[in-house]
Parts: sequence; structure tokens; C-alpha cells
Amino acid sequence: MANTSSLDAVSSLCKRRGFIFHSSEIYGGINGFWDYGPLGCEMKRNIKGAWWQSMVRDREDVLGLDATIIMHPAIWKASGHLDTFSDPMCTCKECKKLMRADQIEDIRAEVAAKAAANGGCPYCGGELTEPRPFNLMFKTVVGPVDDPSNVAYLRPETAQAIFAQFLNVYSTSRISVPFGIAQMGKSFRNEVTPRNYTFRSREFEQMELEFFIRPDEAVELIYGKVTTMADQPDLSVPQKEWGWEVWHKYWVEQRKSWIVRCGLPKDSFVEYWQKPDELAHYARACVDIEYAFPFGQQELEGIAARSDFDLTQHQKHSGKSMEVFDEPLKLAAAKLDDAAKAAFADKVAAEWQSRGKDPEAARAFVAKLFEGRYIPHVIEPSAGVDRMMLALLCNAYEEQKLVDDKGKEDLRVVLHLSPMVAPVKVAVFPLVKNKPEVYNKAREIFEYLRKRTAAFWDEGGAIGRRYRRQDEIGTPWCITVDFDTLADGTFTVRERDSMQQTRMTLEQFKAMLDDALIF
Ligand code: ATP
Repeated sequence: MANTSSLDAVSSLCKRRGFIFHSSEIYGGINGFWDYGPLGCEMKRNIKGAWWQSMVRDREDVLGLDATIIMHPAIWKASGHLDTFSDPMCTCKECKKLMRADQIEDIRAEVAAKAAANGGCPYCGGELTEPRPFNLMFKTVVGPVDDPSNVAYLRPETAQAIFAQFLNVYSTSRISVPFGIAQMGKSFRNEVTPRNYTFRSREFEQMELEFFIRPDEAVELIYGKVTTMADQPDLSVPQKEWGWEVWHKYWVEQRKSWIVRCGLPKDSFVEYWQKPDELAHYARACVDIEYAFPFGQQELEGIAARSDFDLTQHQKHSGKSMEVFDEPLKLAAAKLDDAAKAAFADKVAAEWQSRGKDPEAARAFVAKLFEGRYIPHVIEPSAGVDRMMLALLCNAYEEQKLVDDKGKEDLRVVLHLSPMVAPVKVAVFPLVKNKPEVYNKAREIFEYLRKRTAAFWDEGGAIGRRYRRQDEIGTPWCITVDFDTLADGTFTVRERDSMQQTRMTLEQFKAMLDDALIF
């Protein structure tokens, strides 16, 4: 695992090379807000592109959505964010610092040198207030009149828009359950203690999927059985008989495989399964994927089985039915006689009761199932773009001590980014700039490549220096065009990690590049 100093090294590289800057830096910055510079925004786009490719374009059962950041405030009432999206906060009565009650120990460790007696303020040792709730949503006013009736909120997550637009997407897309709706975009949380660089920011980007599935009872009615994890199912291809538990595990595996394909090694992150007392009351399971950041093992993304909680809440608050009609379910139920139906209802009622749920509600739910209707359940893989980018940068960063032919020591800083996420895929250099034939040939190759990928032109300084500048930003290949290129069309391709050089034609290079960029 990397150490704390490597977060400093990564952040200073990010500043130096234009990946990440403090927002509003010329005015002293603003805490919890970060800007992505020329290379950072390319890398971020690559991460989002890889997510969209794997979650939407590679699948026939997921559709995209791009909703607004400010939505009707009733959405946040229905979702519970208005009433409960808060972290209990303490204030130090001495130094007046505000901190999240659940982070006091982490902060104490950070400022251990200054820490005073246990139980007191980690900054000054002063007495703390009792924890009080603090709502994390940013408020704003819609329209010209600053009146409480015009208050709205910047979304604290992208997910709720998916639930709010569920009916529109469902009814316009000729799709049936199971299917998903994916969205990525900005989210805002007025985090009390933004820290660890971009890890906990106040403005960040999320990539979220809501994958709607049949309730297990519907699966059972249609197929006569529900596959659970006890059946040790093969998780590679979704099956109709899967219950929520298998769908949940399937998405955990899908997300892990995506993370690995983006370049994080398998052993750099773990699955943390939330314990029953840590789960939200509606959640049936929640897995956090935790990456070994330099500041400790922390959540990269979460995959939750949220039952039918969200759509049910929106049905209650909006008065619009969120039920879908499932033809195979209706046909399956029609084959049951009254006795079989009664037995099924009794079984479901008993099962709900054993989970502390209302058996009468179970009977009403089963009656709807017999008509082919239900509110879909949902599995939610929810990832953060900024956290993924930070993890990739921390993992990729390496300082190599090299010794040159003359025995001189040299430090090579290299970002071992996968070609898919690297901000620049290829840099093109003319060996010399004062020979027009070589220069123009190199320029021609660069023009060809830049139309097809993120290419960079560099004609300044010794070739070795130019390589190093590209190593530091993670460029996988550098092309040097020389006199031989004019003769046989081949150029030198230098590979970042091995530093090996090979001669290739443009066609050969293009084929290799295309191959490396298929996600
Ligand atoms: P945490 O416990 O770290 O505050 P969370 O459990 O509240 O996170 P979720 O609500 O599950 O986070 O959000 C899903 C994902 O969005 C997180 O896994 C993370 O990648 C990202 N995310 C959430 N809050 C932030 C933040 N303040 N800054 C950057 N990314 C965030």
C-alpha cells in the first residue's frame, strides 16, 4: 500500500502537470472544490466513457438518462434526503471547529501531534457539544423571489432523477423488467470536513445505475423457483430465475471487473459487506468496494440492494403509480387455482412477517402480483468519478531511480495508467526540427492520429527529455519520426512501462492502438 507522502507526491504532480487545481485558487481557493485542468479533464472523460461503454452501450438492458441538477424539491422529501440526509455534527466549545461525529477519531489520528485527552476536540482538546444533525444538501432559490416557497436543492446524488423519470423511460423504450437506467453527472454535498484531496469534495461527479428487477415473489410465480446464492449460480450471464440476492452479487462482480479493466489491480481493493445494523432500513444488502488509498482503506463505490423503497416513496408522494405490468407474471398466475393462490399468499405473508413486515401488506402485494402488477425492486451500483480517478492516479504513480550509461543517477516519475484512461494516448516527436522533410512527415503522422485519438505534439528538447515529460503524465506510447521514416515509412514506437523501442508502420501502430482502446 502507498503511504501518505505518496498522496503529496500525486497531488503535486497533478498540480505541476495540469491534472487538478484548487478551485478559485487566485482568490485563495474554496475548501472542498477542485478544478480539472487540461490533462485531468481528459482523464475524467475517459473514466466516464469507460463506464458508459460498459454499463450502457455494451448492454441491451440498460438505457441512459441525463437529468437536471435542480429538480422539484418534493423529490428530496420523498427520497428522505430532506429529513434524514444529515451527518451528526459536533462543535468544539473551545475552538469552535465543526466536525462529523463519525470522523472525530480519523481527524484525531491526523492531528495526533496536537491531540489532547480522549473524548475532547481532536484539534485543541476542548469540550465537544452533543452531536446534532446537519443537512448536507446545498440550498438555492428558483426564480426572482427569495421566498421559502421557492427553495430548491442541488442534487446530492444522481440516482433520484432516475426514479423520478422511471415511468417516462419505461413507457417510451419498449423494454421490460429486468432493465436498468444509468446516469452520470455532478452531485453536491455540503460535506462538513472535505478532506484527503479530491476524495471527499463538496462538488463531485457520480456514475449511477438503477437496475430494476422483479420482486422474488414474481420470479417464483413465473418460474416456480428463485435462484439464490446458495445455488452457487454462474454469474457471467444473467438468468431469468435470479432472485435479488444473485442480481446484487452479479453487479458487485460486474463493477469489480470494470475497476480491474480500468487499471486497478484486484488485490488493491476489497468488498466490505455492510453488517445488518449498518444497513439502511429498506436495504437488503450493501457492499462497499474499498480501495487502499494512501490515507487508508476507503469507499470507492457502493452496490446496494434497495428493495422497492425508492419507487414506492415516489408513488406515495407524487400520487403516480410506479407499477409495471408484467405479462408473463399475469399468465403464470392465471394458471393457479384458488387454493394454490391462497397457499402462495399465506406463504408470502408468513415470510414477510418473519422479516418484521406487515402480513396484510403482503397479501395486498400478492393480489397485485396475480394481476401481473408490481413496483420493481432495484439494485444500485453507485460510483464516484473523482474517487476512481484519485485511486487510478495513486495506483499508477511511481518514482523510479535509474542509472544511465555514464553511471549517472536519474529519477523517472511515471504514471502507469492503462491506455484506456491515460489522458494522452500517443505523443509524436520529429527527431529534428530543422529538417523540413522529417518535420513535415512527423506533422502528417500527428495530424492523422489526432483525428482519431488524444495525441500530443512535442518538438522541444532532447528525445530523452520528451519521453520523460510523457512518462510523467502516463502517455503509453511515443513516436519518433526520423530519416528512415522517409525511406521506409516506419518510425520508432517507445513503450512507457518497458521503455522498449520498436519500429512500426502507421498501419501497424494504428491496429495496436485500436486494440488497446477497446474497452
Ligand atoms: P461516504 O460514506 O464516503 O460519505 P457515501 O456512502 O455517502 O460516501 P454514497 O452516497 O453511497 O456515498 O455515494 C456513492 C459514491 O459517490 C461514493 O462511493 C463515492 O464514490 C461518491 N461520493 C460520495 N460522496 C462524495 C464526496 N463527497 N466526494 C467525492 N465523491 C463522493
